[in-house]
Amino acid sequence: MKPTAVFLLAALLLCGGIWLYGIYFGTSRPPHRRPPGTTSPGNRRVEKTDVAWRSQLTWAQYRVMRERSTEWPNSSPLNHEHRPGTFVCAGCRNPLFSSKTKFESGTGWPSFYDPVVPNAVYTEPDGNRTEVRCSVCDAHLGHVFSDGPDPTGLRYCMNGVAMAFVPATPPR
Ligand SMILES: [Zn+2]
Repeated sequence: MKPTAVFLLAALLLCGGIWLYGIYFGTSRPPHRRPPGTTSPGNRRVEKTDVAWRSQLTWAQYRVMRERSTEWPNSSPLNHEHRPGTFVCAGCRNPLFSSKTKFESGTGWPSFYDPVVPNAVYTEPDGNRTEVRCSVCDAHLGHVFSDGPDPTGLRYCMNGVAMAFVPATPPR
């Protein structure tokens, strides 16, 4: 082989390696762009690299929260969580929903009719659906539909894997 060919081959392998590394570790993934004017409770923000999210979250959590996947219906133990308390973001602990607004939707996903505060989450168009994201860490949480119960008529259809439950501390 000519030295130029060797050099070109080496350059090709190097570029290919960097490209694959970028795909695998997500270094090429741009940060999520929030809608202008998006706020969060206390202006709290949690921004991490893809590598950091991968090491913090389980594979199932990462797939849903950072890659907008959907968990299998009826797969989350939070479907059957009926104690008083708060459902927080599994990525950043941002309080999302109160148990008071949880209802049985029969869909197999934990469902709520209102976030704990209006700016706990934000929404973005997602085809003919409306996506719901955590306002602190931008994690994909689920979708919101307009067939929910009173008083809001909304149904926040959430992935249980994207949330953690914090039971209310009983009064002493
Ligand atoms: Zn979050």
